[in-house]
Amino acid sequence: MRNLLGGKGANLAEMNLIGVPVPPGFTITTDVCSEYYSIGGEEVRNLLNDEVKSAIKGIETLMSHNFGDPSNPLLVSVRSGARASMPGMMDTILNLGLNDEVVAGLSKKTGNERFAWDSYRRFVQMYGDVVLGMKPAEKTEQDPFEAIIEQVKEEAGVKLDNELSVENLKDLVVRFKKAVYERTGKDFPADPYEQLWGAVMAVFNSWMNERAILYRKMEGIPAEWGTAVTVQAMVFGNMGNTSATGVCFSRDAGNGENLFNGEYLINAQGEDVVAGIRTPQQITKIGSQRWAERGGISEADRAAKYPSMEECMPEIYAELNAIQQKLEDHYSDMQDMEFTVQEGKLWLLQTRNGKRTGSAMVKIACDLLHEGKITEEQAIMRIEPNKLDELLHPVFDKEALKKAQLLTKGLPASPGAATGQIVFFADDAAAWNAEGKKVIIVRQETSPEDLEGMTASQGILTTRGGMTSHAAVVARGMGKCCITGAGEMMVNMVERTLTIGKTVLHEGDRISINGTTGEVFLGEVATVAAEMDDDFRTLMTLADKHARLQVRTNADTPRDAATARSFGAVGIGLCRTEHMFFEAEKIKAMREMILSENEEGRVKALEKILPYQRKDFYEIFKVMQGLPVTVRLLDPPLHEFVPHDVKQQEEMAEAMGIDLATLTARIEKLNEQNPMLGHRGCRLGNTFPEITRMQTRAILGACCQLQKEGIETHPEIMVPLVGILYEFKQQEEVIRATAEKVFEEEGVRLDFKVGTMIEIPRAALTADRIASSAEFFSFGTNDLTQMTFGYSRDDIASFLPHYLEQKILKVDPFQVLDQKGVGQLISMATERGRAIRPELKVGICGEHGGEPSSVKFCHRVELNYVSCSPFRVPIARVAAAQAAI
Ligand code: ADP
Ligand code: MG
Ligand code: MG
Repeated sequence: MRNLLGGKGANLAEMNLIGVPVPPGFTITTDVCSEYYSIGGEEVRNLLNDEVKSAIKGIETLMSHNFGDPSNPLLVSVRSGARASMPGMMDTILNLGLNDEVVAGLSKKTGNERFAWDSYRRFVQMYGDVVLGMKPAEKTEQDPFEAIIEQVKEEAGVKLDNELSVENLKDLVVRFKKAVYERTGKDFPADPYEQLWGAVMAVFNSWMNERAILYRKMEGIPAEWGTAVTVQAMVFGNMGNTSATGVCFSRDAGNGENLFNGEYLINAQGEDVVAGIRTPQQITKIGSQRWAERGGISEADRAAKYPSMEECMPEIYAELNAIQQKLEDHYSDMQDMEFTVQEGKLWLLQTRNGKRTGSAMVKIACDLLHEGKITEEQAIMRIEPNKLDELLHPVFDKEALKKAQLLTKGLPASPGAATGQIVFFADDAAAWNAEGKKVIIVRQETSPEDLEGMTASQGILTTRGGMTSHAAVVARGMGKCCITGAGEMMVNMVERTLTIGKTVLHEGDRISINGTTGEVFLGEVATVAAEMDDDFRTLMTLADKHARLQVRTNADTPRDAATARSFGAVGIGLCRTEHMFFEAEKIKAMREMILSENEEGRVKALEKILPYQRKDFYEIFKVMQGLPVTVRLLDPPLHEFVPHDVKQQEEMAEAMGIDLATLTARIEKLNEQNPMLGHRGCRLGNTFPEITRMQTRAILGACCQLQKEGIETHPEIMVPLVGILYEFKQQEEVIRATAEKVFEEEGVRLDFKVGTMIEIPRAALTADRIASSAEFFSFGTNDLTQMTFGYSRDDIASFLPHYLEQKILKVDPFQVLDQKGVGQLISMATERGRAIRPELKVGICGEHGGEPSSVKFCHRVELNYVSCSPFRVPIARVAAAQAAI
């Protein structure tokens, strides 16, 4: 019931059903959250008051404690939880139900005054922060409660929180409440039900806090979903040395290794581990040994000073280990779990499918498949296609690493390689990134507040915190390189410096971080392309087995073609010819052609271009070894090629033997009001058929040559920007006539196809007519989107952000195919085309060809292939398989 109860609430209920120890509680549904946003808190409270009261009664009965009863108090936590996991993005309040009377009762009942007052001060602090808005006013300012703690510590002459006496803790509560009164003008609420409703509303509100909104945007989670609120009996990890709290994973979320791992703190409360304030200890012995090895700590030292839970609490460990296995088996996926031990009794507080890096995602899916826990189809569905991108990212060059200066080491919280300039604040990271700078955000501890800065950074580096801190979890989810707990470093947020031993680094200095090893290097370390491992290959083979849609690539150079083939592209869906012209000699000949006054001049210039083009095609077809290659004839408006600065114009005039004035006049003539709708595409080929002739010669000449060398080719010549059947027919005639000549001259023949791009709405509408001549269609969805919406792609920056913000548009239609409008043209044109020519090959070659939701659409409307940039080929292959499952 995840949609209604949120992931956390649903899994708590599920755990309870399968016999995992969970503190009793109840969940207010996500529907109520929607109600809250429409009718308001007051009304919601009126409607639910009785139900909540009786649900609390239920907990009271199970726990034999009473809410607000000083003689036998029940405390609860109030927890957020959405349908999709949003770790740490929303708020949670612990120890609720305490006031001045209840704390005395709790103290008496437990015989632990220190515990009671520590819980109380934590509650006032958390409630003040989350419900009453006690936040620092400035980013450099200290948290108001932390400031008070520092003050009290100073007065008491102690350094650590746990050295504070009971009297100090009492003093803290008084001062906290005073600060609340000064800031808000209201007394801190003493009535437990008042507290409870305040907390419930605050959790609903946290659905709309900045970081939650940003996280949803990043992960594509709809705002309508809302959060559920779980109210649950508190269990205490801070009741002494037989109590503890921790976070654990059934497999390694960084590299996918099948190894139970996690961290915990003795005598602490949950937030202490995830907030990364105290650096926690390892749960398993092997984890602890590996941790010590990285830090150069001897085994004897480790066992004495940093023993694992496995060693300290062997019975609890055994129980936890059994539960993690049970939960992984139950959900048949890697679990991320939170637990608390209260005086020797283990309680599970949360389980969810763990966030993981791209490579862990692939490895875990393959391992679970091989372990027989999931099917091939499930393994494919476990892949988030876009996350495969991470696996293709560069890694540090081994040689460069040897020479690099190691500054320090931290915990390898999320693998990967990153280099960039140091920044200390999240908003700076975003601003620098917007200026095109690569940054690494360096913080004392990462908090979910830094989300925006983390997104904008190449990597994340912190001095505190463990492998399970919120930020580490989020970083792994984003596939961002992250190092936490680099304790030798000192960060000074005010001076904006980072000090490691004698080295002092400033904002803007460059460092490199290796999230796989936890190493921090000075300066920039060179990177090399990543290698694909066996699991990746297994997965890709599996994807191809299940997919129906083929994946081709957009490639204009032999290098791109080779890269795409190595990623499994089965052809080129779009080879643009114009990029080939932008090299020194070629561009001159091209310009000469464009600026010639008559056909004779153009033909002469085209003669010079022909051998270059032929050579380019020769190389591309050679790389593709018999796979189909769709070559698009010249497309952009001619004035894009002419020289615009005076020096180049002078050179050009001289080369052509005309004066500058004549030349500039000709350039002037090429100018258009709206070049995107002007003299381009097949309109060029129709007005200057000699261009089409030359290109056909170059393509087919190259193919004939390869055929003589024994290499098969499958050329598909594509006429761009067709809107009218006859526009296509005339071009086709030129192509076929030229082909005949080429075959005669070369003395060989070969099969080739002539088809068109569908990128003008009229072409889609008259697709049946066009298919009477065209042998294939390729949807150029960039232009088709541009012309269907009537948005100039180059001018959307002025209104698109507003449209997205106002939700006039849900997504940028140039990134995600507009299935309702543009998609309708695609499916209609495909149907109409195939009605006339059943064997018509149809594909798409816009940016959308590598975007998973668009790929799935293409599968549904039965295209033959999608074509995308080389690095997106694996993504499209998996998306295509998922569409078929
Ligand atoms: P988040 O979604 O940010 O992880 P949670 O609701 O899971 O927030 O709460 C954060 C932490 O608070 C948990 O890790 C857990 O340790 C602690 N916590 C929550 N509820 C309880 C409870 N009933 N008893 C003890 N600790 C709790
Ligand atoms: Mg949690
Ligand atoms: Mg186009």
